[in-house]
Amino acid sequence: MRLGVGYHGCHRPDHVARDLDAIVAAGATVVMHRVTEEDLAYRPAHVAAIVAASRDRGLETLVDLRGALGLLRGDAVSFSVARDPEIRQRLSDGALVPAACPNDSRTGAWLDRWLGVVAPTGANGILWDGPHLWIPGADRWRTSAASTWSCTCEACVEAWTGHRHGAPGGAMPDRLTPELRLFRQRSLAGLLGAGFAEARAYGLSNVVTLLPADADEPEALPFDDLAALPYVDGLGTDPDWAARGRAARPYVRQWAERVARAVEPRRARSHIWIPLGGIARRSSDDLSIAVTDAAAAGIRDLFVRTGAAPAAEGPDLLSREEAWRIVVEAVRATEDRATEEPPAEERPTS
Ligand SMILES: [Zn+2]
Repeated sequence: MRLGVGYHGCHRPDHVARDLDAIVAAGATVVMHRVTEEDLAYRPAHVAAIVAASRDRGLETLVDLRGALGLLRGDAVSFSVARDPEIRQRLSDGALVPAACPNDSRTGAWLDRWLGVVAPTGANGILWDGPHLWIPGADRWRTSAASTWSCTCEACVEAWTGHRHGAPGGAMPDRLTPELRLFRQRSLAGLLGAGFAEARAYGLSNVVTLLPADADEPEALPFDDLAALPYVDGLGTDPDWAARGRAARPYVRQWAERVARAVEPRRARSHIWIPLGGIARRSSDDLSIAVTDAAAAGIRDLFVRTGAAPAAEGPDLLSREEAWRIVVEAVRATEDRATEEPPAEERPTS
């Protein structure tokens, strides 16, 4: 199993170099750098320097388009939306939110623009983390009810009435019907698919992390459909059991198996994210359990995030350094087991 690090540290190349050395020393071979639209707009040279330092150390280097267009996960405000506010999603109560509508053609144009800035940095690929339409319930600044949904902008109404993305046409429903859920998913998948193709044209790979949402949750995207899109090189999810008040087992195993099933008929690599923050000391075994269960499900890449999260620190919680050490050891243990155990077909049958 490969180990990858979502690096959310600072952009000072001298500081990053030290962290990259530690990442390599721990046996990680993949790094994903947190890059916002603002970084791409104002600091592309910094991004290029950090990518170069990563590749110089032999790391596969992905650019994590943090919070891009308000459609990917991340604690960042979209530069595109600030510059082009007409592309905003409109909630079902009419409120405009700081995220771009996937059905607005200008959104795709902004995405192409950002990929064009990433490509010359020399990165190997893009991490598309947690694509989603606006989730009102997750917005702590909201003034709309958590039950509202997007998007009801003109571009979406036009797409719906024009039977795009399998829409039946007619008036758009005022609640999330099965047809509307499908339309929303396909609207987003359509933009992502175009983005993957554009990235590939630049020579970039596409690694996609989907939110671990069940089919009845508004932010759910079908794993199989996303895995089946052209130019998907990696697919996974982020089953953060601690954030959801669950135990690692069987939660991680269930999601890992779902990823493995979606990826199995394709050539894409599977991955699972393991949280380093918010792990209670008394449940520290959950970290190695999660790694072991992901490996048992056939997951090929294990990713962790670094970076400060003050809310997730306290005397009863593991520090990120402690959590990191446990995860690194657990990944090494799965490798040891893999070398000790002969492949299934070579095992004695008795
Ligand atoms: Zn829209």
